[in-house]
Amino acid sequence: MENASPPPGKIRCDACPVMCYIADGRIGACDRYANHDGVLVRLDPHTIIERTGQKLVPFLTGPDASDWDGDIVQGARPFVTAVGAGTTYPDYKPAPFIISQQAGGVDMVTVVTEGIFSYCGVKVKIDTDRHIGEERDIVRVKDEPVGHVMTSEYGSRMLSLGGVEHLTGGSKAEGRITCGTLLRLCNREPVEMTIGDDGHQTTLVVQAGQPPVINGEQERLMRVGCGSATIGMFAKQWLGHVDDVVVVDDHITGVLSEHQAGKLLDVPPTGIRIKGRRSTPGRYFQVARPGTGWGGTDISDPLVILGDFNPAVAWEGLRLFMISTTGEQFGYYVLDAALRPRPAPLPEALERSARIIRDNCEPSVCSVLFMGGAGGSLRAGVTENPVKLTRSVKNALTHVSCGGAEAYVWPGGGITVMVDVMQMPEGSFGYVPTPALVAPIEFTMRAEDYAALGGYVDEIRPLHQILTDRTRRVGPADREPDPMSPWNYRWFRGQAG
Ligand code: SF4
Repeated sequence: MENASPPPGKIRCDACPVMCYIADGRIGACDRYANHDGVLVRLDPHTIIERTGQKLVPFLTGPDASDWDGDIVQGARPFVTAVGAGTTYPDYKPAPFIISQQAGGVDMVTVVTEGIFSYCGVKVKIDTDRHIGEERDIVRVKDEPVGHVMTSEYGSRMLSLGGVEHLTGGSKAEGRITCGTLLRLCNREPVEMTIGDDGHQTTLVVQAGQPPVINGEQERLMRVGCGSATIGMFAKQWLGHVDDVVVVDDHITGVLSEHQAGKLLDVPPTGIRIKGRRSTPGRYFQVARPGTGWGGTDISDPLVILGDFNPAVAWEGLRLFMISTTGEQFGYYVLDAALRPRPAPLPEALERSARIIRDNCEPSVCSVLFMGGAGGSLRAGVTENPVKLTRSVKNALTHVSCGGAEAYVWPGGGITVMVDVMQMPEGSFGYVPTPALVAPIEFTMRAEDYAALGGYVDEIRPLHQILTDRTRRVGPADREPDPMSPWNYRWFRGQAG
């Protein structure tokens, strides 16, 4: 049945295992391919990245090269991405485009394909102190589990979403919703999710490059540091204006008079007592429960973390400043005769200090990193000896990019890549209903290295042959290194070093 002729009026797409029959004028199940007058076409335009400053020179000789007029890209050096390039299936077929061009006088080859990633997911970094869930809490979209909460990093919360466990290891609905979630996140669209179960549930809207929305409230600032670090950074500003400072933080609450910074600045003891687990002098853990209040705790009144002041040390009139790690919440207090802190008008110097802390906080954003395994069958579209591609990547002879963006290749076996979706061209990702994500991936290397690893050298085409009126031309992302740079390769670094 697999090789049966298509029904009349339909053509068969063979770009993925679904093998859709597509009627004239209709599109396939993934919205990527269509039947236009009996011809299978990839709907999204193929994308190249143009860089100025270097002229394109073909290295192939013969009729292809002599046709070329040298003006196609008008002095810009392009990089052929896999965005819109299409997919070949089964994997032993050569990748859709294997392109030759010169870079810096070196004959280079770029193999591009839109890989079908059954093993993939995203890591999400959310710049916030607010509590979004406990480690290992399940993240759900439309009631389906799509991932879980990982660790808290410095000023950020981390999520791990997707993975084969959710794409194929659960119910059909779980796989479909997970795939849709990954697709939207990777294409920089917002996704609403819930974390945790009844009794400790958080709603979250995540969009790459945008601030998170937590329980309906948009986050603004990423904390300047933990409470202890904030004491260390700003201790000098408080001298002479206040007797003690407490920086409230869910992880490490700092106390100026006890902290090493205060000691070195001769801040005298104040008899302050903090309800928390003392770690080292001036540094306290677990002063409150995690939450969406001050410094990622659940408190809105900072005085609840204070015990009674030591009457042998404290004094009436002692001035106390309490502030959160983003400088958004703060309070000023003076001890009364009973050594109880009483709110008092904030001195201008402390108002300025709070402003400086806020100014030192970076904007809160969500970062989405696509992570996928390209060490499997995808390699067969590059070479008949897949493991040679893996070795070539590990030996820094082959550079891996995704939509032209630099991909981090994990150490160890396989080719497991991770890439920031904000560095990739818009709309880089697609899906197939197996379910799996479709992501662009490019392998660039010297022509001689491509031949050495058993590449499909007969399939190499010069760049100008694949450029059409429909080719989408985009500029490189900010700060994105050139995938064709010789610095990506060991052979050049060896020469230079
Ligand atoms: S899902 Fe898309 S890629 Fe797969 S066969 Fe159908 S149209 Fe082709």
